[in-house]
Amino acid sequence: MSSDKIYDLIGVGIGPFNLSMAALLNDHSEVDALFFEQRTSFDWHPGMLIEGTKMQVPFIADLVTMANPKSHYSFLNYINEHERMYPFYFLQRLDIPRREYNDYCQWVAGQLDTCKFGKKVESVRYIEDNETYFEVFVVHTDTGETNVFKSRHLLLGTGSVPMMPPSFEQLPKEDVFHTAQFKDHIDRCRNAEAITVIGSGQSAAETFRELLKEQREHNFRLDWITRSPGFSSMEESKLSLEHFSPDYVNYFYQLPQPKKDEVFATQGLYYKGISTHTVTDIYDLLYEYSVGGEKPNVGLQVLTEVNGITKKPEGKGYEIACTQHQEGSSFTHETEVVITATGYKPYVPDFVKSLEDLIEWDEAGRYMVEADYRIKKVKMTENEIYVHSGITHSHGVGSTNLGLAVHRNKIIINHLLGRVAYPIPDQNVFQSFQPES
Ligand SMILES: Cc1cc2nc3c(=O)[nH]c(=O)nc-3n(C[C@H](O)[C@H](O)[C@H](O)COP(=O)(O)OP(=O)(O)OC[C@H]3O[C@@H](n4cnc5c(N)ncnc54)[C@H](O)[C@@H]3O)c2cc1C
Repeated sequence: MSSDKIYDLIGVGIGPFNLSMAALLNDHSEVDALFFEQRTSFDWHPGMLIEGTKMQVPFIADLVTMANPKSHYSFLNYINEHERMYPFYFLQRLDIPRREYNDYCQWVAGQLDTCKFGKKVESVRYIEDNETYFEVFVVHTDTGETNVFKSRHLLLGTGSVPMMPPSFEQLPKEDVFHTAQFKDHIDRCRNAEAITVIGSGQSAAETFRELLKEQREHNFRLDWITRSPGFSSMEESKLSLEHFSPDYVNYFYQLPQPKKDEVFATQGLYYKGISTHTVTDIYDLLYEYSVGGEKPNVGLQVLTEVNGITKKPEGKGYEIACTQHQEGSSFTHETEVVITATGYKPYVPDFVKSLEDLIEWDEAGRYMVEADYRIKKVKMTENEIYVHSGITHSHGVGSTNLGLAVHRNKIIINHLLGRVAYPIPDQNVFQSFQPES
C-alpha cells in the first residue's frame, strides 16, 4: 500500500528518545508525524528489567517534564492517574524503579495514535521529483506486508544493540548470551552448576548481584571476570553529573573532532562504571555469606583479559582462555553458562548508509551532525534527517543519557517549526567548561 500523503516527520524506532518526541509533538498539531517501532509494544531493555533495579537519572528526566512540566504525559501525572501519589510521596525517592519507568513509557505510548508498533522500517529512498521527500518502506512484522510512506523529514531513534565478542556468538545461545537477554535465561541460570559474568559495568554488576541473591537457593558457582583493574564505581558526584548538561554538550560540540575522540575516550567512568549502591549491595551480600568463616562459592577476578572460549571436549560447559594482563600469566577458566556484559554499540540501520549520496561522512565513516541534531548533507535540500542515535562522536558523553533527550527534542522541534516553541537557556549549570570570551 502506498499513499500520496506526505508527512512532516517519520520517526524510526520508539525507544524513550522518539517516544519523548511523539509525546511533545502532541502539543504541536501543525506537525504531522508518525513513529514506527519493530517491537509489538513499547518495551525498554526488557532483558534487564530486574526487580529492584532503579533508574540512574531522577524521574524529572521523564519524557516531557524538562520541556513542559504541565504535560499530561509527565511521570507525576502517570503517578496521579494510577492513584499512587501517597505511596510515591512516602517512597521519598528520585530514582524510580526501572520497571516503573517502563510501565510509565507504556502508558504514554498507549495514548499516542502517532506511535505504530510491529512495524519495521526496512529501507528509505530519497526522492527528488517536483517535490522532494523520503520514501519510507515499512514492513508489518506479523504479516510481512510492506507499506510505503512519504515524509519531508526523518528522525532516527534506533538506539543501540548489544555487543558480543565474535568468538562467543557462534556458541549455543542458551549457554552463552549477553546481559540484554538475561531475564529470558534466568531459568537456565538456576539449573546451571557454574555461571560466569564477563565485564564490569552497571549491567554486569546488576546481573552478578541478582545471581548472588539466588545462589544459595540454586547452588551454582558464580564468577565475575573483568579486564579492568577494579570493579570501579561510576563518577556520580553532583559536579561530575554536570557533564550531562546542555552546557557540556555545547562545549564538547565545538571541539575539533580529533580532540572530541581523545576526550571521550577518557570519560568511561561517567557512564561505564558501577553505581555505588550496586557495589554496596554486592559487598554486603558477600559479607553476609561469609559470616562464621564460611567461604562464598564466588570468584571475583580483575585484570583479566578474556581471549576466547571453546566447548569442553568432554562433559558440559566451556573453557574460557584468560590472561592476567599485568603479570602476563595465562589460565583457563571453566564454566557452564557465560553472560557477557560487553556493552552496546549505536545501531545505524543499513538504509542510512544507502543515503550516502545525501549524507556527509567523516574520515572514520561516521555521519557528521550539525549542532541542532540534523545530519550534515552534501547538498542543500529542505529535507532533514534528525538524529538521536550514534551521536557520541559529535555531541559527547551525554548523548545516550535520558536527561538530555527532552533538551534535544526541544531543539529539533524548534527547527521543525521554524520558531522558538521552547526557549533554550545558555547557562544551566554552575561550572564553566571554557573561559568566558
Ligand atoms: C539496561 C540499560 C539501562 C539503562 N539505564 C539508563 C538510565 O537509568 N539512565 C539513563 O540515562 N540511561 C540509561 N540507559 C541508556 C539509554 O537511556 C537507553 O539506552 C535508552 O533506551 C536510549 O533510548 P533510545 O530511544 O535511543 O533507544 P532504544 O531504547 O534502544 O530504542 C530504540 C528502538 O528502535 C527500534 N528500532 C531500531 N531499528 C528499527 C527499525 N529499522 N524500524 C523500527 N524500529 C527500529 C528498536 O527495536 C528499539 O525499540 C540504559 C541502557 C541500558 C542498556
